[in-house]
Amino acid sequence: MKKIITIVGARPQFIKAAVVSRALHNAGIGEIIVHTGQHFDTNMSDVFFEEMQIPKPDYNLEINNLHHGAMTGRMLEGIEKVLLKENPDLVLVYGDTNSTLAGALAARKLNIKTAHVEAGLRSFNPAMPEEINRILTDRISDILFCPTATAMNNLRKEGFDAFDSKLLLVGDVMYDAALFYEKLSEGKSTIIKDLNISGQKYILCTIHRQENTDNAASLQSIIDALNTLNQDIQVILPLHPRTRNILQTRGIKTGFHAIDPVGYFDMIQLIRHSHLVMTDSGGLQKEAYFYGKYCATVREQTEWTELVENGYNFLTGAKKELIIKTCENLMQRKPFDSSLKLYGDGNASRKIAEILK
Ligand code: UDP
Repeated sequence: MKKIITIVGARPQFIKAAVVSRALHNAGIGEIIVHTGQHFDTNMSDVFFEEMQIPKPDYNLEINNLHHGAMTGRMLEGIEKVLLKENPDLVLVYGDTNSTLAGALAARKLNIKTAHVEAGLRSFNPAMPEEINRILTDRISDILFCPTATAMNNLRKEGFDAFDSKLLLVGDVMYDAALFYEKLSEGKSTIIKDLNISGQKYILCTIHRQENTDNAASLQSIIDALNTLNQDIQVILPLHPRTRNILQTRGIKTGFHAIDPVGYFDMIQLIRHSHLVMTDSGGLQKEAYFYGKYCATVREQTEWTELVENGYNFLTGAKKELIIKTCENLMQRKPFDSSLKLYGDGNASRKIAEILK
């Protein structure tokens, strides 16, 4: 394996690619990075490349702010052009975004081998755009790097043993990132000082899933819950641009501390100093666990079922009363020591690079 093309486009993919890129480099594999442009703001994109020292993208397709079909279609076209020009040995895609699906599909149609990092995850909710992207990407990828035993089982149940694809349980690259950047972020991030919250109790919250932002009643219910909770314990919420736009358009008032999206280093420190996490993000549910914080997940399902089964994560949906009750209950608990190795041994990215080599 000499030349790999990595497709990234969204915030969680930059974090995953940061640790895998380093491992590929250490294994002597050449990597070309294609940024589709899905996330483009400085604090949704550039900050991640700078602080985690991800090599600058070789291509930026600058495709964003379009509906799903148009966005995926234009990405497919743009990625295909790059693949025809570069003729890589393999295309590497991450997670569950439109960039992931477009990358896998462009490669497959050109008969270029494809590897999917974070394969096999399922929410079993077909209304989620991410679920469609995951299912289709898994089905057309040659190598499926699964983060958890649950993900491996999901693929087996879907009959993947009978397909040509290779299923490999390597662990979660997000855990590698959490370990690698924990100390580094402590020295670099000033967010706790900047927000003047040292020693204070707060709930760290993020909301950005389409199922919550695009449903007026759900979003209102979540914001109402946060406003109520904020009367007793400070709520700090780095606002995703999509959520910010929708709140502005609908004139929904937030009484809590909404801040601009932050870089990964700041986010690690915000989680580590928080009392509790509340989110609809996939990544943040696990990061809460990595840093020993309980998490209320504002969704009806999660792909990270082992967190729920082991009592670290509680699904509330967008129901105001249940969100409040769950958070109040979890606030009584002390942070825990996440000694169960639910997400591997912190070497997922090294294993991926060695397998690809
Ligand atoms: N994140 C961040 N800054 C923020 C919000 C999130 O660095 O302001 C990180 C978060 O810690 C996690 C990742 O971005 O590692 C998750 O991204 P997101 O919630 O956008 O996507 P998901 O995980 O739901 O796919």
